Amino acid sequence: MSIAYAGFTITRVPMLTDNYAWLVGYEGATAFIDPADANAAILAVEQAILAVEQDGAKLDYVLLTHHHDDHIAGAKTLAARFGAKIVGNEADAARLPSLDIALKDGGTLDFGGSKLKMIATPGHTNGHVAYLFGDAIAACGDTLFSLGCGRMFEGTPEIFHASLHRLAALSPDTMLLCGHEYTLANARFARSVDPDNEALMARAREVELMRQRGEPTLPVRLAVELLTNPFLRAQTPEEFARLRAAKDKF
Ligand code: ZN
Ligand code: FE
Repeated sequence: MSIAYAGFTITRVPMLTDNYAWLVGYEGATAFIDPADANAAILAVEQAILAVEQDGAKLDYVLLTHHHDDHIAGAKTLAARFGAKIVGNEADAARLPSLDIALKDGGTLDFGGSKLKMIATPGHTNGHVAYLFGDAIAACGDTLFSLGCGRMFEGTPEIFHASLHRLAALSPDTMLLCGHEYTLANARFARSVDPDNEALMARAREVELMRQRGEPTLPVRLAVELLTNPFLRAQTPEEFARLRAAKDKF
């Protein structure tokens, strides 16, 4: 199922148990983010291309947010199938599949006349990055989830907090493409630490209903997370550290 947003086409591609990979299109350019499962990814690309009745399946970029297997395992096979270029963080190249394009923080690519930009968002892992499509979309992997954030496997609270601030500073209309459907469990924790937040209560109720109906809770607009996500709302690294430690034990 595809969503049209600010001229972009966003296709959510569920994989493994609770991963979301994403296919983004703009003016004939296409990019696939975090292909854990090559077969599911290939099928999604073929279906999306059939849907717009283009001649021949086409994929320009395979974008990798970080080195964990549930985000990269299908990258080589997917890229080979469509002749796409694998893109990732130059600083983490040793842990990623062989990169065709290694970007530095702030590095950009042309994307159908729009700009595709990589920004460093370390914390979940040291080499984690997000991809910005124009000022409309952020593919943020396991850095930011709806109502939560990734586990702090490698970073420090200072580093992770700074990465979340970087995302929080984007346009509130930015559509967030997160790497996992963790929203329902995240909502339980968020409510426990911010029980008087009415926007959070409303989002939590909405999420419960969506999950009861078997619907995805993503993508989500940054504006929603700015009002509801306790990790994004943490004012200091210390506050972030307290929340992250509490969530790990929740
Ligand atoms: Zn991860
Ligand atoms: Fe993951």
